Amino acid sequence: MKIYNTLTRQKEDFEPISGKKVNMYACGITVSGEAHIGHAYQALIYDIIRKFLNKVGYDVTYARNYTDVDDKIIAKSKETGIPADRYAAMMIKKIDEQMARFEVGEPDIWLKATENIDNIIDFTQKLIDGGHAYATPDGSVYYSVESFGGYGCLSNRKIDDMLDGVRIENDESKNSPLDFALWKAAKEGEIYWDSPWGKGRPGWHIECSAMNRVAFGEQIDIHGGGRDLIFPHHENEIAQSEALTGKRFVKYWIHNGLIKVNGQKMSKSLGNSLLLADILDKYSNDAVKFALLSTSYRNDINITDALFPEAEKQVGAFYKTIFDAETSGILQDETENTDVDKLFNDAMGDDFNTALALSHLFGLFKQVKAYLSAKDGKALSLVKKIKNAYSLLGLFKQPAAEYLKLHAVKEEAPAEVVALAEKMQAARAVKDYATADALRAEISQMGYTVRNTPNGYELDKKN
Ligand SMILES: [Zn+2]
Repeated sequence: MKIYNTLTRQKEDFEPISGKKVNMYACGITVSGEAHIGHAYQALIYDIIRKFLNKVGYDVTYARNYTDVDDKIIAKSKETGIPADRYAAMMIKKIDEQMARFEVGEPDIWLKATENIDNIIDFTQKLIDGGHAYATPDGSVYYSVESFGGYGCLSNRKIDDMLDGVRIENDESKNSPLDFALWKAAKEGEIYWDSPWGKGRPGWHIECSAMNRVAFGEQIDIHGGGRDLIFPHHENEIAQSEALTGKRFVKYWIHNGLIKVNGQKMSKSLGNSLLLADILDKYSNDAVKFALLSTSYRNDINITDALFPEAEKQVGAFYKTIFDAETSGILQDETENTDVDKLFNDAMGDDFNTALALSHLFGLFKQVKAYLSAKDGKALSLVKKIKNAYSLLGLFKQPAAEYLKLHAVKEEAPAEVVALAEKMQAARAVKDYATADALRAEISQMGYTVRNTPNGYELDKKN
């Protein structure tokens, strides 16, 4: 098993700290809104990594957190008038439902910042006692970056370069502009907890260090997150945890690529944020997973308008072959000897290469088709093996007939038919029913019927 380690910038043989036991933590969602496709992708990746490690004989304990108090949540609370803790609880419930709908496995341990305030305060106090943090007169606590020699090891930056890059902020009470907040003094009207430094709430970075310590102790095998978290979040986690224990915090740091939409960074401010619920309304879980996993996890994924429809078409073709095999009436022949599991495990064992694993499907289904046209019962055996191996990625778990019924990909109508349908919609909109009826007849002559739906219209090919 090989894993690319961000810390060493190379692929390494995977050797957990203690035998086959693997402790794994992935940074979770800040619950300031519903789940978008980036959240879903990250949750999917670490769920698959956990499942695969379990499959090949490791004993994984997987923890994930919810950041349920932060500036964005407080801003949402002010905007909606819902208290911050209730707003966060509402979002967590929604996100849990959406992830369950996407069939992403739950971690073994769920952690929430607001349920670990005492642990965070304890961690922070110990950092102050050890000379790695300091309280300011307003009741905040900052981590002293220059007190930790290893700062910058993960993101490969030097403190002097980082200092050159930051504006000197005179209005802050921090000793150095690189220092980051462990505890934030509460402003008027904000949610707060009591602490030795006054009313306040935890900073973001300390949450993950403190919750790792609660879940796993001083060291863990794998820590994951999006690549955008390497700096400063994960750099700061290392600084906090290693300053406290003097031990290496994480053996393997792994980072997934980011989601782009039509080549642009996905963000709420750009208005191109894709909500998971909206995507799942349109496409099957199989198609969305196939699309996301067709890129290896370390690379960015570019979501174009064609990505999910193309994936749906491809997955539909695979399901059709499964359906044909399962309804062929040919007797199953067990002598089929393709080692699908080995193909799959070899791909995934090389830094979880889902892209390679999925690319094998094309050859495998081609083989199934060849068996089918020779009326060879090996088709059924091979289909069984494919379904078995690829269920780990969430694929081919639905009965084929059901999938094909629900997600049959319609052939798109020719452009001239679509143009007539658009004109017809325009005529209907101004209640010009005579023109609309004439257009409907014209469309019918071209072999299509127009069906009105709550979202507009659909063009069905006449049989
Ligand atoms: Zn984190």
